[in-house]
Amino acid sequence: MSFETFKFTAEINKAISEVGYKKPTEIQEKSIPQIIKKKDILASAQTGTGKTAAFVLPILELLIKDNNKVKGPRVLIVSPTRELASQITDSIKKYARFIRINSVTVTGGISYTLQNKLLSKPVDILIATPGRLLDLFKQKKIKFNDTKIMVLDEADKMLDMGFIPDIRKIFNATSKQQQMLMFSATLDNSVSKIASEFLKNPITISVKPEIKGHINIDQSLYFVDNQFHKQQLLKHFLSNKNLKQAIIFTATKRQADKLTDDLYHADFRIAALHGDMSQGSRSKTINRFKKNQIKVLIATDLASRGIDVKDITHVFNYDMPRFSEDYIHRIGRTGRANKKGYAISFVSSSDKEYLRKIERFTKIKIVSKVVTGMEPTKSPENKTENDKKNKSFFKKSKKKFKNKLNAKKRMKRNLNKKKSIQSRDVRSAIE
Ligand code: AMP
Repeated sequence: MSFETFKFTAEINKAISEVGYKKPTEIQEKSIPQIIKKKDILASAQTGTGKTAAFVLPILELLIKDNNKVKGPRVLIVSPTRELASQITDSIKKYARFIRINSVTVTGGISYTLQNKLLSKPVDILIATPGRLLDLFKQKKIKFNDTKIMVLDEADKMLDMGFIPDIRKIFNATSKQQQMLMFSATLDNSVSKIASEFLKNPITISVKPEIKGHINIDQSLYFVDNQFHKQQLLKHFLSNKNLKQAIIFTATKRQADKLTDDLYHADFRIAALHGDMSQGSRSKTINRFKKNQIKVLIATDLASRGIDVKDITHVFNYDMPRFSEDYIHRIGRTGRANKKGYAISFVSSSDKEYLRKIERFTKIKIVSKVVTGMEPTKSPENKTENDKKNKSFFKKSKKKFKNKLNAKKRMKRNLNKKKSIQSRDVRSAIE
């Protein structure tokens, strides 16, 4: 299939050819015709599948065709994180280059004065995070009377982050007549439940998780003894000449800061990115990373979605993610635009359970490797084997012990029986 099939307006086709897309991705093939037909959509597609263009391109087409001069917003796009909101904003700018469209982004961390100024003009597309959107609605800075399309992006994440009550309030403030598009990495029961609340007879679209199509990401894992061992391995990989840019994921904000300090003297252009930083410094850091002024970003899962930098050659799971979905999102930061990427995970013995869940979820066995001279003293993998051996040894010993005990009991019982027969015989002899 080619983009021609969608019969987009010339300005949109021009933007598509400028960004260099040759043909639509699977999610685009399936979603675009339905969105143009103004159907509600429930789509399961992860980041990296081209899902942003799958809804932005047909939305732009519908906006051109229905060019009403209203206060707006004519389209409302709700994203769980500021980073994803800014990613969507960038995509809209890219695809709407040749169209006069006013898109405004409202997220936490941006000054209210600036946002109020932007909202004072007619708005075509409003991209927002739930908390700030609700705030502005309560302050009567935004109305949804003109909203014809509402997009809920990464609905599963919105559920995880507890945003559904806010979304419900926003939805209730709309006419409820608008076309609803919902995208989610997974379509489990809880996502289906909120879909049935917000969507009208949706067309369900599902595309394979990106991980299976991501043959260009080389996934490997290294078992580690302790933090020192992790850092040794990390420094080894960071000195690799093929590493252009990298994201290192840590479990906590403190760990991200600490590792940034530890690596600061290691001569890498490095920066931390996490939720404790002001929105201004978060955006600045991401922009510097995009311009390759920062080589290595040390981040929490805040950066696992939405960051689209083509030169990220390596993703490190310095700490393993607790949720399998986050693993997919994290490693999806590399191997973008068909480039080769490397996803390297450091696994300690306490991470074994998470690893097992990730492997079950992705249906991929991640190859375990070692760096010569930096082998773990005790491989958790071997430990598992040993554990198994020990377990079966104890099981066998327990059985042996039980058998012995039973044999002793039997002997005692027989002896007592014999004694009682003997004493009976003696008694009867006396009597
Ligand atoms: P997304 O899933 O929206 O995060 O998009 C992932 C990446 O795919 C982005 O870098 C897009 O620029 C790129 N992309 C989107 N659509 C296409 C397409 N049809 N062909 C090639 N790359 C695409």
